[in-house]
Amino acid sequence: MSGAKTVLITGGSRGIGAAAARRFAAAGYRVAVNYCRSEAQARALAEELGGIAVQADVSDPEQVRRMVDNVLDKFCQLDILICNAGVAQQKLFTDLTDGDWRRMFAVNVDGVFYTVRAVLPHMIHRKAGRIVTVSSMWGQVGGSCEAAYSASKAAVIGLTKALAKELGPSGIAVNCVAPGFIDTGMNAALTQEDREALRLETPLETIGTPEDVAESLFFLASDAARFLTGQVIAPNGGLVI
Ligand code: NAP
Repeated sequence: MSGAKTVLITGGSRGIGAAAARRFAAAGYRVAVNYCRSEAQARALAEELGGIAVQADVSDPEQVRRMVDNVLDKFCQLDILICNAGVAQQKLFTDLTDGDWRRMFAVNVDGVFYTVRAVLPHMIHRKAGRIVTVSSMWGQVGGSCEAAYSASKAAVIGLTKALAKELGPSGIAVNCVAPGFIDTGMNAALTQEDREALRLETPLETIGTPEDVAESLFFLASDAARFLTGQVIAPNGGLVI
């Protein structure tokens, strides 16, 4: 087990992050499952996968630092970072409060900044590492009533590309996955009619699963993606091309 590669997945307790944890574990990785509030789910998943559960609110730099120290203590090395933790909100732009805007950026953008910053000394020292961020199709094309979310996810793409250029010479690749509509708790409020409309709007006429996104995350973290950096791949069924 000690020679196995290691991965830290933020927001690994549910949805896309949990599917990614299962995908990496199935390939023999040692998995650190980060959670913020869903402790029971994260612990059960970590136990199922023989990994560890690590608590941190990614919008808090001190908690993130402690989480990364904890993972490095347990695993001794970190090969892959998946920056998946995120929040969404649907609201008219004119109804957005300062707090709504700041919370969105605190988790979706600051969270990536803090987590990447915390793992970098280790990855730079090893001159190796793969980082995969999670944006959204709305970060690529903008979503009505999702201005703050779209802006935060566009920021993730800009950050990914800049980091790819800066960290490439240190042997670290940075890529991004921008999913389309995926069936997780994030979309629990959608009605059956909304879901059917989205399905029919999607060229592949199906709704994405967390496992669909996990495959893209796994690919970008794998040796098969050795020559890729600064790229955005979009498991979205063709909804955004
Ligand atoms: P989800 O089911 O709502 O799960 C969100 C995950 O993020 C949970 O594990 C949650 O942890 C974690 N999280 C939220 N705030 C956090 C914080 N402050 N610190 C640490 N973890 C935090 O959402 P999902 O659909 O799997 O989304 C995962 C990522 O994919 C997000 O970045 C999202 O924006 C992106 N995405 C989703 C879709 C979609 O249609 N579902 C589409 C495009 C992009 P706890 O439960 O432990 O608090």
